[in-house]
Amino acid sequence: MCIFCSIINHEIPSRVIYEDENVLSILDINPLSKGHTLVMPKKHVTDILDTDQETLDQVMHVTQKLAVEIMKKTNADGCNIVSNCKEAAGQSVDHLHFHIIPRYTGDTAISFHPLTETPDLEEIEKLLKD
Ligand code: 5GP
Ligand code: ZN
Repeated sequence: MCIFCSIINHEIPSRVIYEDENVLSILDINPLSKGHTLVMPKKHVTDILDTDQETLDQVMHVTQKLAVEIMKKTNADGCNIVSNCKEAAGQSVDHLHFHIIPRYTGDTAISFHPLTETPDLEEIEKLLKD
């Protein structure tokens, strides 16, 4: 059984922020910032690519609601809402979850690094549109 399913079944303790019939939200054990929270469906699905619409809607709905509340309660200046898909993208737990990562001006919790050489955007536009 996956580690998040064990948490959902209360076999492993966690700090629960929100719970309903379909969705669980817990504090990340290894936070990137103050208030870093995870939101997951109780149903085991691997990632966003593998998720049925109903489950995704339920998790997204709670994610948005919690992000607004967490922003207020932590006095954060912004937040990243991220769902990593597959190992290459940094997914380490194969059970869909959204990270809510409150951001504070000047922090270095997450950064994006653009390619130093811009690829042929016309070619990529064609590839992705067709
Ligand atoms: P991923 O790397 O898959 O995008 O995110 C997995 C997240 O789950 C990581 O940020 C990691 O710190 C967190 N995590 C892993 N194991 C546990 C655990 O047992 N409890 C809690 N609360 N978080 C966990
Ligand atoms: Zn699971």
